[in-house]
Amino acid sequence: MEERAVIEELLLQSRERSAEGQVADYIPELAKRTPDRLGITIHRIGQDSMSAGDCDTQFTLQSISKVFSLILALMDQGEDRIFDKVGMEPTGDNFNSMVKLELVNPGKPFNPMINAGAIVISSMIAGSSPEERFVRLLAFVRKLAGDSTIAINTDVYESEAATADRNRSLAYFLKHNQVLEGRVEHHLEVYFKHCSIEVTCSHVARMAMILANDGVDPDSGEELIPRRYVQIAKVFMITCGMYNASGEFAIQVGLPAKSGVSGGILAVVPGQMGIGVIGPALNQKGNSVAGVHLLRSLSARWDLSMF
Ligand code: GLU
Repeated sequence: MEERAVIEELLLQSRERSAEGQVADYIPELAKRTPDRLGITIHRIGQDSMSAGDCDTQFTLQSISKVFSLILALMDQGEDRIFDKVGMEPTGDNFNSMVKLELVNPGKPFNPMINAGAIVISSMIAGSSPEERFVRLLAFVRKLAGDSTIAINTDVYESEAATADRNRSLAYFLKHNQVLEGRVEHHLEVYFKHCSIEVTCSHVARMAMILANDGVDPDSGEELIPRRYVQIAKVFMITCGMYNASGEFAIQVGLPAKSGVSGGILAVVPGQMGIGVIGPALNQKGNSVAGVHLLRSLSARWDLSMF
């Protein structure tokens, strides 16, 4: 069967799974999304791209952005300074949990993919103001995605900023422990803004393709990310990119990936392709139900697992 037809067929089967999940509603604006959308774009290194379903749906990066804020902060500060503030281990707790922050090594977040870690990372992006930090991150995302018009969805940003009591309390706890320095509200502004960057599957697939190509843009030959930092990002994606289902995802799909509460998933097939998926209905663990099903079917059909 032709590759495009395979994707179409698998997408139709996976879309039915959306009924098993629910759209995130703790950010009120996200609750307005249509649950049974499912779209995918695949960018293969040096080849044409392929898309199916609702691939033009716009969605906010949410936690997918944490991969790129981490990479930019690594490029700005180097690994020693980053890992002085944030750990390298999965938590086994929810993405916005505070439990281990107090119990273990006070104040040091376990990894940069949970909210506490990502807020610290946002504070470590170089820049003299929150605006400058965010604009640098946005420029980085635009370059990786190959689209200079990418912007934030201000409704989602304002909705999160107005309701983020839990992230605020995490951030103030981090400040109390001197892990976060400076003005907490400034760091949260950068964090909420990068979560609200609006994209399509094609943008996410292109960003993933650059990671699949070890940080080099295959079109221009330019190195956009040092290989070492791609390596670090891929490790975090495998160990904690899919929330508390990262082990299950590694067994069932076998690819470095990061999901977000908007239902987006970025998946990397090293040396081959980048994949962007959107499916707003989430399972209990916070991952797109239909999106995970689609990636699992695709990985099995094309033997994509790294392991
Ligand atoms: N902006 C969201 C939050 O902080 C991101 C969560 C996610 O996608 O996992 O709650």
